Amino acid sequence: MHLHDLIGIGFGPSNIALAIALEEGREGRPQQRPLDALFVERQPGFVWHKNMLLDQAHMQISFLKDLATLRNPSSRFTFLNYLHEKDRLQDFINLKTFFPSRHEFNDYLAWAAAQFEDRCAYGEDVFEVLPEPRAGEVRLLRVRSRDAAGAVRERLTRHLVVGVGGMPRVPAEFKAFKDDPRVFHSSNYLEAIARHGEARRIAVVGAGQSAAEIFMDLHGRPQRPQVDLVMRARSIKPSDDSPFVNEIFNADFTDFVFSRSGSEREELLNEYWHTNYAAPDLALIQQIFEVFYRQRVSGEPRHRFLRRHEVAGVQAGEHGLRLTLRDLNHERTITQDYDAIVLATGYERDRHRSLLAPLAPYLGDWEVDRHYRLRGQPNFHPSVFLQGACELTHGLSDTLLSVTAIRSGEIRGALHGATGLDHATGRQESSRQAA
Ligand SMILES: Cc1cc2nc3c(=O)[nH]c(=O)nc-3n(C[C@H](O)[C@H](O)[C@H](O)COP(=O)(O)OP(=O)(O)OC[C@H]3O[C@@H](n4cnc5c(N)ncnc54)[C@H](O)[C@@H]3O)c2cc1C
Repeated sequence: MHLHDLIGIGFGPSNIALAIALEEGREGRPQQRPLDALFVERQPGFVWHKNMLLDQAHMQISFLKDLATLRNPSSRFTFLNYLHEKDRLQDFINLKTFFPSRHEFNDYLAWAAAQFEDRCAYGEDVFEVLPEPRAGEVRLLRVRSRDAAGAVRERLTRHLVVGVGGMPRVPAEFKAFKDDPRVFHSSNYLEAIARHGEARRIAVVGAGQSAAEIFMDLHGRPQRPQVDLVMRARSIKPSDDSPFVNEIFNADFTDFVFSRSGSEREELLNEYWHTNYAAPDLALIQQIFEVFYRQRVSGEPRHRFLRRHEVAGVQAGEHGLRLTLRDLNHERTITQDYDAIVLATGYERDRHRSLLAPLAPYLGDWEVDRHYRLRGQPNFHPSVFLQGACELTHGLSDTLLSVTAIRSGEIRGALHGATGLDHATGRQESSRQAA
């Protein structure tokens, strides 16, 4: 069986950025053996959060935090070079924005991904990673995936990087509805809502960017559904992207967070939690407020803002889906029937634990080092990196695009050290870039 130096699980922005960093690491070193890296992606082709590619949605981060710029501004994989190649650079300048549409950023990511077609196996879902023990030592890993037809494929690798993104978080009350197409997570929104064109009464549960975007999307639909926006919070608070606060997303803040004790890290996460979670863009909040205000002017209440409401139960019946809601302001319980319920309830970031479960005996308590590498037992030799699952140790930027370019340089450095190809660390490179 062919042996890879590295297998990457998932080919989203994190692993595309790593593919770019590996490619650029070779430039100017023709004598160096290229690292044999393969990425395995479950989607049939690249697309970024395809069910949230809403027409009005924009990036929530500057385009300069693309796949490469912060690590290597002269990379050919920057967003600016993408614009240049697409002959849109001047028009983009005239837009006067740092925040391209989500459609355009998806197109940029797809353009970058397309340059690595030969290094990505699309349409394969990795379901487990096994150790290959020999005489008590583990030097290789066996990566098992399943294609759309159900056929299982196995590959061997020396090192692994897991970049699988988040898994939909489904509140306990809705777990029993996982096979009911009327209850769906925001990660399935566009596909699911297309199947529910006739839905008249829809509840959107959540208070974050996705909930806000979905509310506005439903508001604009020609079928004019009635939408209840259900949240525990009293108000929808905007994300704080003011400059001093935004410094927590700078690359050197990762060092700061990582060097703190567990309790200090937790305090930092709590202090800045709202920069990323349950915090839509201010402009979107203003649009929603205006929708409710116009309802008051017209006297035709279509949607409701059910603030301080907590889901207490869900039942399915002839009436549709009956939500029991605890009204936290008035200490009372109400019930309401819906044709569909959208769960804009966020994501879990622990999928690596089930994927890597067979490696658990070698990995102790799933701790990662500064280079995002799981700390293994002395008899476990592969480096296993996690991208996007290290928020607790590396800070809030970890699940975002903020440090993607820098992080891929750091992982490349650690990987080259582990493979003996090059001892320069990614950190040295990123500080060279900054200098
Ligand atoms: C709707 C939405 C909008 C966002 N907008 C922004 C933004 O504007 N700015 C920002 O900084 N962040 C944003 N984010 C955060 C987002 O996490 C990052 O932008 C980015 O997508 C992280 O990249 P990733 O590669 O780590 O994860 P993902 O983009 O989630 O990619 C993971 C990839 O792994 C694949 N995969 C998963 N499991 C397997 C498996 N078992 N086998 C094979 N393949 C697998 C998936 O199909 C996917 O392609 C947004 C998130 C969402 C949901």
